[in-house]
Amino acid sequence: MGNDMEIKDEKSYIFDKTMKCNVCNKEFTTKQVRTGKARYTGTNDILKPLYTGIDSTKYDIIMCPHCGYAAVPRTYGKLTPKQRQLIRDNIEGKFKVTWKEEDSYSYDVAIRRCKMALLTEMITGTKISESAYLCLRLAWLYDGRIEELRSQNASEYTPVGVSFPLLGLPVTTSVSSAIWPSFT
Ligand SMILES: [Zn+2]
Repeated sequence: MGNDMEIKDEKSYIFDKTMKCNVCNKEFTTKQVRTGKARYTGTNDILKPLYTGIDSTKYDIIMCPHCGYAAVPRTYGKLTPKQRQLIRDNIEGKFKVTWKEEDSYSYDVAIRRCKMALLTEMITGTKISESAYLCLRLAWLYDGRIEELRSQNASEYTPVGVSFPLLGLPVTTSVSSAIWPSFT
């Protein structure tokens, strides 16, 4: 398929961008896809945008590793003082990055980053459509992870064996506790 060779080259499609957090004012780097490098080839059956050489959906979220504030680039930094305070009160201090910094984002890391964006949405109380949009992004990431497992021919893999932490929790679990266990 040529897929393995393309995936190994993923680093050449991304770069580190330095940013300043809108909530805690600390600097951090976030990985972004180089404009024009990857070629768009269409969408799949769950409307995921597909590119040659890289799964760009892994790089859709900007997340501050210091306080946990996360969002898509379109909305990143666009917070009211009250929303900033809500993030400080509810996320900063409880959040800690528990994954290793690597040259590219694994699906597991990308999924955690996306969940932090979802948590940010829930805490700051923006539009439900924004949360729905992030849930769709989460589905794209799980789709990529499943494809990755398939291509690795993981012998233990079965569709029902894949863990969906958000979906697998009891419905009585509160929103914040439904998300937090995955980050600690
Ligand atoms: Zn921050």
